Formats: sequence, C-alpha cells, structure tokens
Amino acid sequence: MIPLETLGGAVAGAVCCVCGRPVTAFAWCCADCAQEYHLNGYATWPEWAKFLKKDEERRRYRRDSAYGEIALSDLHAETARTIERAWYGDSDD
Ligand SMILES: [Zn+2]
Repeated sequence: MIPLETLGGAVAGAVCCVCGRPVTAFAWCCADCAQEYHLNGYATWPEWAKFLKKDEERRRYRRDSAYGEIALSDLHAETARTIERAWYGDSDD
C-alpha cells in the first residue's frame, strides 16, 4: 500500500469515482471497477456510475481551482514588480 501523499503529483488527486482508489488523471474509474461494473466507454455507463463520475469531476475541478491562478494585474503594483524581478531578474533600466 503506497501512501497517497507519495502519489500526489503523479495522480493529480484523481481517484476512481466508484471506489475512491487513486487512478491516473485521465481515468474516471480503476481497472477493477471497470471490470466489475462493466464500465467500458462512458456512453454505456449506468446512470449511477455517471452520477459518481460527475461528482468526482466536480471534486477534481474544485481541487484544481483551489490553487487559484492570480494574474499579475490582480496584484498591487509593487508586489507585481517584486514577483517579476524574481521571475525575470532585474532589468538594467
Ligand atoms: Zn474503482
């Protein structure tokens, strides 16, 4: 059993929408569930599985957006300059 934390970036927090085990970010259910519940091809999924998938979709979206993306233009001018210096180095002008 690998601790979830060590998988962190690799799975991008994606879990099987049925059993909650870590899966790749492109999968909505793990191989075991796919086999057990015949979840091959989303179009053929039963309603309950689609519901769980939507739920997981929302969860992943929330997780991704939790980091937030702040545009430099949203920041105070002095803060933005500080970050710009950190990213691009001092300019000579
Ligand atoms: Zn599963």
